[in-house]
Amino acid sequence: MATKKGIKVSALAEELKMEAKDLLKQLKDLGVSAKTSASIVSEEDAKAVRDLLAKEKKQEEKKIEEIISPIIPAVPVKTTRQITIFGDINVKDMSDMLGVKPSDVIKELMRLGILATINQRINPDVAKQVAAIFKIEVISKIKEEEKEAVAVQKDEAKHLMHRPPIVVVMGHVDHGKTKLLDAIRKTNVMATEAGGITQHIGAYQVEVKGKKVTFLDTPGHEAFTALRQRGAKVTDVAVLVVAADDGVMPQTVEAINHAKAAGVPIIVAINKVDKPEADVERVKKQLMEQQLVAEEWGGKTVMVPISAKQGTGIDELLEMILLTSDILELKANPNRAGTGIVIEAKLDKGRGPVATVLIGNGTVKVGDSFYAGGVSGKVRALINDKGKNIKSALPSQPVEVLGAQSVPVPGEVFRVVHDDPTARKLSEKKRMEEEQAKMLKGKVLTLEDFSKKIKEGGRKDLNIILKADVQGSLEAIKGLLQNLTTEDVRVNIIHSGAGAISESDIMLAVASRSIVIGFNVSYDGGAKLMADDKGVDTRIYDIIYKIADDVKAAMLGMLEPIKIEAVLGHAVVKQLFRYSKVGVIAGCIVKDGKVLRGSSIRILREGKKIYDGKLDNLKRFKEDAREVQAGYECGISTSGFSDFAEGDTIECYEIRIEARKL
Ligand code: GDP
Repeated sequence: MATKKGIKVSALAEELKMEAKDLLKQLKDLGVSAKTSASIVSEEDAKAVRDLLAKEKKQEEKKIEEIISPIIPAVPVKTTRQITIFGDINVKDMSDMLGVKPSDVIKELMRLGILATINQRINPDVAKQVAAIFKIEVISKIKEEEKEAVAVQKDEAKHLMHRPPIVVVMGHVDHGKTKLLDAIRKTNVMATEAGGITQHIGAYQVEVKGKKVTFLDTPGHEAFTALRQRGAKVTDVAVLVVAADDGVMPQTVEAINHAKAAGVPIIVAINKVDKPEADVERVKKQLMEQQLVAEEWGGKTVMVPISAKQGTGIDELLEMILLTSDILELKANPNRAGTGIVIEAKLDKGRGPVATVLIGNGTVKVGDSFYAGGVSGKVRALINDKGKNIKSALPSQPVEVLGAQSVPVPGEVFRVVHDDPTARKLSEKKRMEEEQAKMLKGKVLTLEDFSKKIKEGGRKDLNIILKADVQGSLEAIKGLLQNLTTEDVRVNIIHSGAGAISESDIMLAVASRSIVIGFNVSYDGGAKLMADDKGVDTRIYDIIYKIADDVKAAMLGMLEPIKIEAVLGHAVVKQLFRYSKVGVIAGCIVKDGKVLRGSSIRILREGKKIYDGKLDNLKRFKEDAREVQAGYECGISTSGFSDFAEGDTIECYEIRIEARKL
């Protein structure tokens, strides 16, 4: 506040946007006496402070300018011409467009602090800065182009038309999925198409009462989940095949869980009812345990007894599929650029890359430019499931597309865009994204992530896939885990089953962002590899309460890193050497891995541990060695143990502190 006498320190500090105590210091430096923020300083003194600060500010600005002026070209630059780029551009193309040498572009990039090679891609913002140095203006068009090409257009209601349902057939191996798909194809196609023998293209369409239904011809939930994992919702209805003689089996349960996770309605086909040992009621009862209750038992699940072999019940099943899909009110807009999912792809000797695309929306026509993931192309021909050349393909129709530059990856989204260059640009962009994604791989879900998230607050679901050796322990663990659910965190058991952790479990984990918990089980086939590859957190326990402990800790956001034992290698004692000075040295051969001085060891005799301690001395011939690899001889001694015997195994291990991940 200004007074006749002067101005209060606090008011001046506020004006100068500084703390009162800092201002008091400044005043002191200027020889002005002011003690507190309530003190009054004269207008003259206030002016002196203002001037001083203004001078300092100017000096600082000058310094900054000196630092950045070599980097940022003087603004505004008078440009001599314009170039147009579409998104990121590599150094080589950029220099061509600018009409300068690539090395000059690289040099300018360096000045901007970017180390680039000739093939490196730079983003439009950087391109603009570099071009400005050469007095060229860059117009970046990717955004508009992309919008035009691939934005999900809101389809107006008046353009929407009914589209056929897309059905997947799932179930346990040998329960008759293939037979059923064959039966459906035969009964329907033969009747309606003159001599129409379908060829296998991964999916086919049949007509039921004048309405089309599309069947994915790749039975099994692996294909289904693989597609879903890539973010593609491909199917509308799942038909679960259960053999009436065999009943609900592990893969039946898996299939149910996959379909549930995808939010797809399930219709049950109880197959093989022609067999004398068929027991439909038993199957229904078993399904009830999986929360699938038959309509006739007051539930909501349609169950149709069929014999794929004799062709009975198929019509009824098809009708049920129609009824179920009618409720879903499946719609699409055929009057727009086509999009779909690549469900199969191969390199055909005569025809080149062939992709089977299931059209999701819009129409795909011969001559359309398209891209699917990192692959672009122009539709040269379209072939339907009856092997006929067609001009265009409609929503829900499976069609072979010829004309891709290379073989696309099944599961990729197929998109028609307005011209070839756009298709190329977008596929290239996709390729880059994929490469980057590969580098970022591993970000699926781990208990640590979850733990971190919990700390951030909010209600969360912890999805778990649970595998155990026997049904009994499965039930016990399930109960235990479900009891952990709190107001903020829900434990959600996506799938549980007895048996080893399978690849299918891992795929389900990826698709549903779950962690996989195994109790007294191991991995099936390539499951471990796959889990590592996809970064799925899988944990195997042998004590039930430890599972609960870890999950509880994660739910509290308190999962601490754990100590993990890593076995480094094994050595076997071959001969004993006694020295008066050092005592006993065990002459060993390293069987596998390596032994490391200073690491932990345990000595095993006939499989039993007789000592646990440290590897104090390691010798290779007479010399001290830091480590000795498999296949070599060495001498081992430890201060705490000398009672070695020939044939003892020395297991060398390390304790590592790791984030909790198996
Ligand atoms: P998928 O592994 O589920 O595809 O099973 P398949 O379709 O290959 O069928 C497995 C076996 O069961 C084959 O030998 C079929 O012939 C037989 N099968 C399939 N459906 C029926 C049926 O309705 N009745 C009888 N008796 N056998 C069937």
